[in-house]
Amino acid sequence: MCGVFGIHGHDEAANIGYLGMHALQHRGQESAGLVAVEDGKLRRHVAMSLVSDAFDRESLATLPGRTAIGHVRYSTAGSSDLRNAQPFVFEYSGGQVSIAHNGNLVNANEIRAELEAQGSIFQTSSDTEVIVHLMAKAKNLTSPADVLGRLMFALSRVRGAYSLVLLTSDDKMIGVRDPNGFRPLTIGRLKDAFVLSSETSAFDLIEAEFIREVEPGEIVVIEKNGMTSHKLGFDQGAQSPSFCVFEHVYFARPDSLMNGKSVYRAREKMGMALAAEHPVEADVVIAVPDSGVPAAIGYSRASGIPFEMGLIRSHYVGRTFIEPQESIRHFGVRLKLSPVRSIVDGKRVVVVDDSLVRGTTSRKIVKMLRGAGAREVHMRISAPPTTHPCFYGIDTPNRSELVAASHTVEEIGRYVTSDTIAYLSHDGMMSAVAGSTSGNGYCSACFTGNYPVALGSENLVQLRANRAAR
Ligand code: SF4
Repeated sequence: MCGVFGIHGHDEAANIGYLGMHALQHRGQESAGLVAVEDGKLRRHVAMSLVSDAFDRESLATLPGRTAIGHVRYSTAGSSDLRNAQPFVFEYSGGQVSIAHNGNLVNANEIRAELEAQGSIFQTSSDTEVIVHLMAKAKNLTSPADVLGRLMFALSRVRGAYSLVLLTSDDKMIGVRDPNGFRPLTIGRLKDAFVLSSETSAFDLIEAEFIREVEPGEIVVIEKNGMTSHKLGFDQGAQSPSFCVFEHVYFARPDSLMNGKSVYRAREKMGMALAAEHPVEADVVIAVPDSGVPAAIGYSRASGIPFEMGLIRSHYVGRTFIEPQESIRHFGVRLKLSPVRSIVDGKRVVVVDDSLVRGTTSRKIVKMLRGAGAREVHMRISAPPTTHPCFYGIDTPNRSELVAASHTVEEIGRYVTSDTIAYLSHDGMMSAVAGSTSGNGYCSACFTGNYPVALGSENLVQLRANRAAR
């Protein structure tokens, strides 16, 4: 749950980077950072805040140069503090390198222990630093500045999810996606400049043209003479590629293209499939805003029940799901959602949400709707039950906290106190996202438990502990 961005060859690189990070703010709200290069020197500014608070005119002026990379972070590995804020900058014998990472490495702890036993001293608790140390130790290089060779060496050792953007002191910008392509990374052009971004929504903001995605297992190197493409040359799992379906379900912005498909249209289709699978007699369809809106529109379209904005979100409070502390998450629901009495009073209401993780938010929503006069409340979830944690970079909680891991749908319905509850089937979700029920090309492990890349020892310990706790 992070966003990465980079621009190469633009007079306003830091300013464009700042704008691009704004468009990726939904991917991480804990820290924001930019690194720019000029005259062989990398300069960095990071802060523990939203993009708009992290930068002002003065701080952006400290980042001169025509190439810059940026990162917005939500911690899924490593603690939430400034030393873990990215992009990182490090030095090795060939110069300086900066790195920004979206995704989680599943074997980072094992490699870290090995490197520490060999004398490496880590500055952060982030899994990304493992890549940095491996790059510093790389062998068989053509020269000390062979950053591609260093990167290939490092990535041949790590497993898991990584979409990376790197910047070198000799003005190379590099984009990489892991062989499974769990996390997105896209390439755009802004006049003569190349742009890399987690999501295409950033291209729309800066008026860049979307060119293509970085392919799973591809490294693109962008320098003065243009862009070259390289292959990682190894596989890390039996199912490859395996793009994260949860990006479509919940995480990405609806105006982005993911894996070549419109996120908005995929969510709308999920809502249509949900209506076909789980119809109900009702007067109005409402959404849990914002990410539930396209699916609710789809449900309304397929069922013929009118769609209304029956819940209003305050946009001055962060997204509940990605606020890390339980106390804030608990409090946040009432802070940010309010029912519209004139829409729901006396009505049979279908409320569409895109995920139900712990159930606490849904329970409060049902209570709010009844408090506003709803006669019946029918909960519809436009994804299958989330039964397993994610180890590839989305902050689903431990299995013990996932209500669907240990309760039937009927039990969940009783807990959230809705009149009825139903989830979209796995086939329905995959058809909406991929156009086929096979699920080929996608990871849906948090719904199935079929992890496409072998988990690390620590992940397996966590899974076993969760099972034992059930
Ligand atoms: S486990 Fe779920 S959230 Fe994690 S990468 Fe797979 S589909 Fe995405």
